[in-house]
Amino acid sequence: MRVTDMSDCGCEKARRDLEEFLRNEVCKTEHGDIAEHLAHCPGCQDEAHFARTLTEVVARACKESAPEELRELVIARLRSQPAVS
Ligand SMILES: [Zn+2]
Repeated sequence: MRVTDMSDCGCEKARRDLEEFLRNEVCKTEHGDIAEHLAHCPGCQDEAHFARTLTEVVARACKESAPEELRELVIARLRSQPAVS
């Protein structure tokens, strides 16, 4: 699932900005760069899907639970799924 040897395609920047991208807090130029990168990079698409799922689950439930604890719980649950590698 994770591809580590992709530093030549902009993955580092894309993933660094991914969390903000998903919160729509980056400027439009960066937003476009990341969206374009994701469109061409399966590794980062996986990462984006993971991050988006995490963000949505936490956002949905954080009104009732401690966000940090919930975040760790969700990460553990998602990570525990069979990895395709
Ligand atoms: Zn990438």
